[in-house]
Amino acid sequence: MKRTHGSGTLRPEHQDESVVLQGWVHRRRDLGGLIFLELRDRTGRCQAVVEPEAKDAFSAAEDVRAEWIVELHGTVRVRPEGQRSSEPTGGIEVRVNRLEVLSRAEPPAIPVAAADEQEVSEDLRMRYRYLDLRNPDRLQALDVRHRVIKTIYDVLDEEGFIHVETPLLTLSTPEGARDYVVPSRNTPGHFYALPQSPQLFKQLLMMAGTERYFQIARCFRDEDLRADRQPDFTQLDLEMSFVDENDVLTLNERLMARVVHAAVGSDIATPFPRIGYRDAMDRYGSDKPDIRFALELETWNDVFAGTEFRGFSAALNDGGSVKALLVPASYAEGLSRKALDELEAHAKVHGAKAMAWLRREGDALKGPIAKFLERETADITARVEDGGLVLLIADRWNTACEALGAVRLALRDRLDLIADKRELAFAWVTDFPLLEWDDDNGDWTYMHHPFTQPRADELDRLETDPGSVHAVAYDLVLNGFEVGGGSLRIHDLETQRRMFDALGFSREDAQARFGFFLDALKFGAPPHGGIAWGLDRLVMILAGATSLRDVIAFPKNVRGGDPLTGAPSPIADTQLDELGLAVTAEPPEVQS
Ligand code: ASP
Repeated sequence: MKRTHGSGTLRPEHQDESVVLQGWVHRRRDLGGLIFLELRDRTGRCQAVVEPEAKDAFSAAEDVRAEWIVELHGTVRVRPEGQRSSEPTGGIEVRVNRLEVLSRAEPPAIPVAAADEQEVSEDLRMRYRYLDLRNPDRLQALDVRHRVIKTIYDVLDEEGFIHVETPLLTLSTPEGARDYVVPSRNTPGHFYALPQSPQLFKQLLMMAGTERYFQIARCFRDEDLRADRQPDFTQLDLEMSFVDENDVLTLNERLMARVVHAAVGSDIATPFPRIGYRDAMDRYGSDKPDIRFALELETWNDVFAGTEFRGFSAALNDGGSVKALLVPASYAEGLSRKALDELEAHAKVHGAKAMAWLRREGDALKGPIAKFLERETADITARVEDGGLVLLIADRWNTACEALGAVRLALRDRLDLIADKRELAFAWVTDFPLLEWDDDNGDWTYMHHPFTQPRADELDRLETDPGSVHAVAYDLVLNGFEVGGGSLRIHDLETQRRMFDALGFSREDAQARFGFFLDALKFGAPPHGGIAWGLDRLVMILAGATSLRDVIAFPKNVRGGDPLTGAPSPIADTQLDELGLAVTAEPPEVQS
């Protein structure tokens, strides 16, 4: 390598050393007699000065523009007192004696390391992602990602795992989304599916005797995109044989502690709190609770048992709940009538029909429904501090929990309740129901996937009372995001068959879709379980980024498109012919 140093690594102790630097011209200032170049590479930036005495270098520097790539030869000089800056390299400059242009460049299509990024639309940033990535903060996010993945390899290797790749062209793996499909040329009319997860393969690996498997696995799910989703994404997928739930959780805690340390240098406390699903919903109104702040929900069914207020009695008579969120006086002061209306609107977006509020003033309650609650006033004022507020939602239990949980998070943001923005609050959510009722299809459906083990002591209710059976399943939650999920698995044919029955699959359907897997179970399976982490989301939080797109080198936009390459795109008629396909849909209007 010709390059002797990284631009960002030079310090006063390099005084008088001859150096060769290669990198991008971050900025060029021509002071008439002197030309200053700020040179940038992956390690950082430093100032170089070209004096007219270095004739060739000086005339070359006169042509140079920002973002040209150059090679500089020169000597390190300690800057005189008064000319130093606070940059890491602010104590030195490089006095250039030779300058070679390695690549000329047109002015960048988007500002590189723009001070105000809001000015550049995200699609434009993606279209020119290779320029966008020149911003050191963005490169930093990729560095965190690398560190996370490297640590995963190191730790899991120490723990006796091996990395195994599973196929990308495969058969559908149910994880509750649509498949991306790839047509087969050799068997026209047949399609591969891209994996939604390597779930069945990792279970087959356990049956094969691998015992401890992991994979940094690319997965594909065709879902309506949201800000925190990408159609192709990366999981840490792992599976272990001969383990119980606690073994999987503690292994993950050890791994996560090392990953966090490597990524951000801080130590996290283990074990993580474990919260049952029912409890998480009841207290936080979410199965991915943000436990960094209190404001826990309460259940006020007892306060309103026998109430004459129709809005609440109707919900209670239908078996629903009245959930309450107490806002202490110190915060309540700042919540105007308008703010409360906005919070109610937010609750409605999350499924509630209404949200009521009551403000305690001495022995009295104020609020639109206060006059209907004379009977309950004493009971309520005993629970709400003077000047405080209570927000109330009466509905089906899960609707009331979820809607008030959403209000809790809105209050977190509105009142800025997270004191330490770098805090990492991990928790496990456990004891999920095995199945949930799907109103749309009028049938039971799986909450995780159909291979999750029902709790042994509840298995006898699978046919008679499926909704009451719990799964040995767990989600890993961080700051209100789900960053992982897994379970112990069914490992005997009989239970797997019963599970498919409970899900309403006919024996023929189950055989047609999963025959290969049911066959494998016939040949014996060790007890096993595992988890998958959403690696993009974890890295996003660790890198302090606000979008998944910031931690993926070449992300897709919210419409699932790639503005850089233009994918997805039509294919040539000859390709369609080869595949035996005809396109019948009209192409959509191109959105810019
Ligand atoms: N396959 C599951 C998922 O992708 C994770 C697991 O159960 O291990 O969510």
